[in-house]
Amino acid sequence: MIKYGELSTKKDNINAFLKQLKKNVEFALKDLDVIVSFDKGRMFVETKEFDKVIDKLHYVAGIHEYNIVYKMNYDEDIDLLGRNILEKVKDYGFSTFRVTTKRSNKKYPLQSMEVSRIVGAIILKNSDNKKVDVHNPDLNINIEIRLNAIYYYFNSEKGLGGYPVSTAGKGLLMLSGGIDSPVAGYMAIKRGVKIEAIYFESPPHTSVEAKNKVIDLAKKLALYNNDIKLHVINFTEIQETIYRNIPHDYLITIMRRMMYRISERIAHRNRCKILINGESIGQVASQTLSSMSVINEVVKIPVIRPLACFDKIDIIKISEKIDTYNISIEPFEDCCTIFVPKHPVINPEQSLCEEYEKLIDYEELIKKAIINDDIIRITSVDENKFEDLL
Ligand code: ATP
Ligand code: MG
Repeated sequence: MIKYGELSTKKDNINAFLKQLKKNVEFALKDLDVIVSFDKGRMFVETKEFDKVIDKLHYVAGIHEYNIVYKMNYDEDIDLLGRNILEKVKDYGFSTFRVTTKRSNKKYPLQSMEVSRIVGAIILKNSDNKKVDVHNPDLNINIEIRLNAIYYYFNSEKGLGGYPVSTAGKGLLMLSGGIDSPVAGYMAIKRGVKIEAIYFESPPHTSVEAKNKVIDLAKKLALYNNDIKLHVINFTEIQETIYRNIPHDYLITIMRRMMYRISERIAHRNRCKILINGESIGQVASQTLSSMSVINEVVKIPVIRPLACFDKIDIIKISEKIDTYNISIEPFEDCCTIFVPKHPVINPEQSLCEEYEKLIDYEELIKKAIINDDIIRITSVDENKFEDLL
């Protein structure tokens, strides 16, 4: 049984949200034998493969909490409910317990408190040395009396929270091999943004390993995003042209302006409404406020920077949680690091950027790079399945 949490604030379009969440849950569980249904307050996954389902639901945004629940007919006798629960709690080591009942079906003849009291009494009467503790019990026994059935459960798992993927539309994530951008992508996904990713490579200056690293990162993100379309852009000619023609203190600024221009066009072509990247204020020369504003100048599309105000240490914590950290720290150069000048400008000027850009025919180069957009479709790796094969 899945609880929605934050979704309950979305009164007007709750149905659209729930339909999307159902789709996402079904996608995450596509290899398992399940039936998914929902009402206004809860979603239900009927299955015998509990453990596998529980593992997969960890990745689905829009879930606040979920529990393994047992189901009973609505019109069954309350004593039977008590005895069923008694049977199940035998598997749990506990000395104190508490029964909490929620009754969303107001037609049910007993009030919540009465149900809790009767079930509690059955447990006390039929077991040794158990006590009720309403404040800090070893075991929480939860009962929910809903429209067509009664459910009971003992433990709950915390879900990812946020909104179901795709409910906010699509965004294009600028994905490098670093620590930050996968985390930025994950944060956008959690807000309901379905992401596509764009990666700029500069072979032979960047290696196949660097690209594979980005693919591996995208695979991790795909677990949360259902799947990912990764656009690989060959940036070599642009980067070399910039390197040959433009004063080196402005290399990074101009290079990033080109990345933004290309990303905006790829976003428009693919109906992505925003760009997302891993920039964080002050982290490097290209992320000072003046750099960010001069770079941002070349696009109209909104650029969302989920990590703008994060400390690196907190970004690292999230990257460990989503299991991207160890991939990100693999030592393969991405295209920025190779062309890094000794003294990048910290306060670049818009007018100088424009002057320098006149030195190269960047429009032609951009068009060429976009035409050769190499699209890789990435689906999440089903690790369970893989283990089965071994
Ligand atoms: P990260 O750890 O994400 O690589 P960073 O601290 O190294 O970030 P930069 O290299 O300045 O910072 O990049 C800032 C952001 O620009 C990245 O977070 C990413 O979103 C984007 N970016 C940088 N390089 C690339 C690339 N080769 N392809 C796609 N996006 C890139
Ligand atoms: Mg980087």
